[in-house]
Amino acid sequence: MTEQMQVTRSWFDEVIVPTYAPAAFIPVRGLASRLWDQQDREYIDLAGGIAVNALGHCHPALVKTLTEQGQRLWHVSNWMTNEPTLRLARKMVDATFADRAFFCNSGAEANEAAFKLARRYAKEKFGEQKNQIIAFLQGFHGRTFFTVSVGGQSHYSDGFGPRPGAIQHIPYNDIAALKELISDSTCAVVMEPLQGEGGVLPADKEFAKAVRELCDQHNALLIFDEVQTGMGRTGSLFAYMQMGVEPDILTTAKALGGGFPIAAMLTREAVAQVFQPGVHGTTFGGNPLACAVAETAFDLINDPAMLAGVKEREGWFRAELEKINAEYHCFSEVRGQGLLLGAVLTEAFAGKAKAFVDAGIEQGVLVLVAGPNVVRFAPALNLTAEEFAEGMRRFTLAVAQVVKA
Ligand SMILES: *Cc1c(COP(=O)(O)O)cnc(C)c1O
Repeated sequence: MTEQMQVTRSWFDEVIVPTYAPAAFIPVRGLASRLWDQQDREYIDLAGGIAVNALGHCHPALVKTLTEQGQRLWHVSNWMTNEPTLRLARKMVDATFADRAFFCNSGAEANEAAFKLARRYAKEKFGEQKNQIIAFLQGFHGRTFFTVSVGGQSHYSDGFGPRPGAIQHIPYNDIAALKELISDSTCAVVMEPLQGEGGVLPADKEFAKAVRELCDQHNALLIFDEVQTGMGRTGSLFAYMQMGVEPDILTTAKALGGGFPIAAMLTREAVAQVFQPGVHGTTFGGNPLACAVAETAFDLINDPAMLAGVKEREGWFRAELEKINAEYHCFSEVRGQGLLLGAVLTEAFAGKAKAFVDAGIEQGVLVLVAGPNVVRFAPALNLTAEEFAEGMRRFTLAVAQVVKA
């Protein structure tokens, strides 16, 4: 009678592969930007499931779509298409630079598709020798072996045997380094418009422009990994829309399904054409249940009022974090864009980001780290003024707790 057994956090240490070190509490329900644990303790959620729950927990429109689609059709596999996948693709290409979409289930899988597509495109158009992928140090693109190898933190790809080859890393925002390395053998340059996991570090406008120009000069594809920055997070549907630069391939995931697993790779017609039947695929990709939920999330997020609200909320956070800093002097800078913000810790608190997260849990507010020196905020885009005020009241207590420790 599994349902009647009292589940405790200690089970994790017994039956789950120890990939993670989760918090001591177990959340059991959520509503908007609040979560409650097994003991009915309340948390204000400023972490948003790591930039996933863009509409908060259990948004009524998403619940409605999920239950309606759940009673109609879940999965048919890709030897048949389905209405939700076609509607979602139509909306995404209408709203972006892209002509076609490929759906899959996670950010890593979308990037895996993007990197394979870039390699195949270069091979077909220019020949086998054009296979170099250039990516950036501290970049993060997922945990499959190809994506972790393109990611710019080698400790994630060490220790698994020989890595996929022809991948090189250079410092982010370094135009000279890219100029030096890029050549006609480069098939793709891969970047996050704003490095999320790597420390909430935005690309300079000049840098993004230079990357685009250098890609064009060398017939290399520009891949934007918008898995974290996508779906309204920065105040536009995608971050590239504020950069004056368009990619050739874009990947997105996290917030796309508002908490339901789904990812997409978007691209132009000519590039898409090399993925002919049989070249790539995935069993669950584009399934009707995920696409129906994502379509509803898309409609709610791709709305001028929602996107303007993200900018407004960025202002709330910046003002409040400045106030906290005036008292506690623990941040050297607040960087990022929209509702993907990082409070960079001063020397005195170097390496202590996790202590702020832990103190937050004690005070009933959830925030994230982005590396050891940055406290990251990635809340729901529809965070209310009341949720924000209560969350920051608790975060201020958490800061005080760390500073006085
Ligand atoms: C989270 C993330 C990924 C990986 O997504 P998964 O769904 O965990 O595979 C890839 N790229 C970026 C920029 C991310 O933030």
